[in-house]
Amino acid sequence: MEAVQEQENSYRVLVAEDSPTQRQIIMSVLHGEGYEVILACDGIEAVTQAFSETPDLIVLDIEMPRMNGYQVCRLLKDDRRTAHIPVVMLTSRNQETDKFWGLKTGADRYVTKDFKLTGLASSIGELLAHQDTSVLDRPSLTDAQGTKQEDTDVLTRVNELLDRKLYEATIINEISKLNTLSEDCAVTVSSALTVISKVTDCYVASVLLIAERELIMHIQNPVGNEYFESSRAQAFAAAHEYLHPGSTLNQVRVRMDADPVFLEDDNVKFNTFSSSLSIPLKARGETIAVLTLNSPKQDAFNEDIRQVLQIVEYPVSVVVDNARLHEGTKRLAITDGLTRLYNHRHFYELLEQEFQRTRRFKTQLSMVMIDIDFFKQINDTYGHQVGDDILMEMSVVIRKQVRDVDILARYGGEEFAILLPQTGLQQARAVAERIRLAVETNEFKIPDGVIRMTISLGITSYPECRIDNQTELVQTADAAMYEAKKAGKNRVEVGGLNDTGKTVRAN
Ligand code: GH3
Ligand code: MG
Ligand code: MG
Repeated sequence: MEAVQEQENSYRVLVAEDSPTQRQIIMSVLHGEGYEVILACDGIEAVTQAFSETPDLIVLDIEMPRMNGYQVCRLLKDDRRTAHIPVVMLTSRNQETDKFWGLKTGADRYVTKDFKLTGLASSIGELLAHQDTSVLDRPSLTDAQGTKQEDTDVLTRVNELLDRKLYEATIINEISKLNTLSEDCAVTVSSALTVISKVTDCYVASVLLIAERELIMHIQNPVGNEYFESSRAQAFAAAHEYLHPGSTLNQVRVRMDADPVFLEDDNVKFNTFSSSLSIPLKARGETIAVLTLNSPKQDAFNEDIRQVLQIVEYPVSVVVDNARLHEGTKRLAITDGLTRLYNHRHFYELLEQEFQRTRRFKTQLSMVMIDIDFFKQINDTYGHQVGDDILMEMSVVIRKQVRDVDILARYGGEEFAILLPQTGLQQARAVAERIRLAVETNEFKIPDGVIRMTISLGITSYPECRIDNQTELVQTADAAMYEAKKAGKNRVEVGGLNDTGKTVRAN
């Protein structure tokens, strides 16, 4: 090592270069600019010097014995004690791959070694002039024991770095694989949360989807209900600034995968020592979700964990974004745009599934067909837009009267169909009557007040009404609905035959 003192400026530049001739040229360029130069003849020496001498800038040759310039650069940029030092890479070839790797390893500039090293002095000058002054308070190069790191075991550090890079690559790979996991957004996101929970040692991990107002929660350890509720509130608070103004916690639907026993006893308490960490997940420049981690342990999310999170932030954003878009597209394909109920086509898909299931398990399946009375008059009197509004309100009124397991669809223009699994004729009739009454008594909003509406309903039931197949189920319910129209509207009619061959009446 040769150190040459210069008085003209106070910057110290470490030059790592194995060729004595090149060293001489570089040194004379730098001396010409008034820099103090510290020399290293290979990569290992460069790392050792970087730690012991705290240079203001490092010039690295790429091809050097023992450890090349890329490796040195990656090692130094990876250590927070040396990460801030600007690095200029030198290469004899002006190859794109060199440039690519040079910049990937964190180098700040890239200078081609030509005869006079044009560009070296100006690059160094610019980098030093634009140094981030916020890092003036640089971490000391002295470790906790107070010993200087002159004897830094460079190879151990290389191994640690390789270990970590492998670990990071594995996590990224685990998360990226989830892109093709499931049709269900919650399943995919939960799987990503499981990976994250494992590598961060957190208890509750969640992703709040902003546009969907949906909170997908994964519980990794038994926490109890109180801790769970606090975590839910915290996930909401972290996403609050991105949500629609005025959004409340209760408007956010929770989807979670947790062993129910994890929520039984209050195993852990949410107290001032609990740790929590949130990061916004972005796609196309927009925050699409917020990831929140909770742990009852104090300082659970240390620098190492934060580093891991930085690594997973991008792949997790991609997985979450794909999962929500995929589900959104699927939802669009099966729902009706106006009422958000299932559309006609999806109704038939579900009918097929339900009919098969009903037959296999020898249970019952009822169907209700609904048609709005005098709907044409609404359009004629108030216009199509008011007609649309009433259709929307009608869907809400009907939906309130059916169970979650019932399948409600917009069958046609002003027609709705309902499948009632495991429901016999008597019960179906009760449901239909309840819907009829709810509609009759509802005050539908129109621009200057409210109006009353009525509906006609046709019902039938498998196997009670001697229905053989799914087509008959629909046709019979439909025929019964027309009977209701003929009989004066605003009523429920039953379709089908009983064992004696007579039209069924379920009163
Ligand atoms: P009935 O009591 O016999 O059922 O008579 P109706 O007027 O309800 O029945 P009709 O079949 O003659 O007319 C149905 C009307 O529903 C015709 C159509 O303009 C209207 N309609 C269908 N789909 C929509 C829609 O999406 N929006 C609006 N505004 N109107 C619709
Ligand atoms: Mg009608
Ligand atoms: Mg109609």
